[in-house]
Amino acid sequence: MICLVCNKGSIDGLTHPVCKSKYAIDGAFCAVAYKGIVKKLIYNFKYKPYLADLRNILVELFYESIIQQEIFQKAFKFSPILVPIPLSTKRLRKRGYNHSKLLAEGLSKSLNLKLVEALQRTKDTKSQFGLKLKDIATLLGRADHTTVMHGVEKIARSLKSDKNLCGVVGKIRSSVHTEN
Ligand SMILES: [Zn+2]
Repeated sequence: MICLVCNKGSIDGLTHPVCKSKYAIDGAFCAVAYKGIVKKLIYNFKYKPYLADLRNILVELFYESIIQQEIFQKAFKFSPILVPIPLSTKRLRKRGYNHSKLLAEGLSKSLNLKLVEALQRTKDTKSQFGLKLKDIATLLGRADHTTVMHGVEKIARSLKSDKNLCGVVGKIRSSVHTEN
């Protein structure tokens, strides 16, 4: 695992204390390693033949991996929410579904976590939370590791710096706490 701010190794996936800043991402962990059968499944889920039905098996894989990792157990203490990455209209039309949303929906049920579609694309060159369409397109359109990491870092920054969104997330968190 790496620190997404300096791209150097991080044992626990957390951002190095020296790399931390107000809007920087706190850390990044992966549920499954992108290789072998997982890679094949994800590819067939995201690209031709667009097997949306693979969602169930992928959700199960992610779920099993997540519950077995200590780092996720720690994260669960902070009442996390799931935020799927929105898809470009063009890709959504081509694929017929947002793979990220399908996975988030499945995991929301199995992990009993709230799903919030907090990121929204607008028709402007910039999305509501300051993400450029180009960045999202690049993020979703390419499997390139560094591009994805860069995108994730940008999204974290957008989520943290948007005051309205912080308020919404806060309310969701407290409602989750009340329910529990
Ligand atoms: Zn660092």
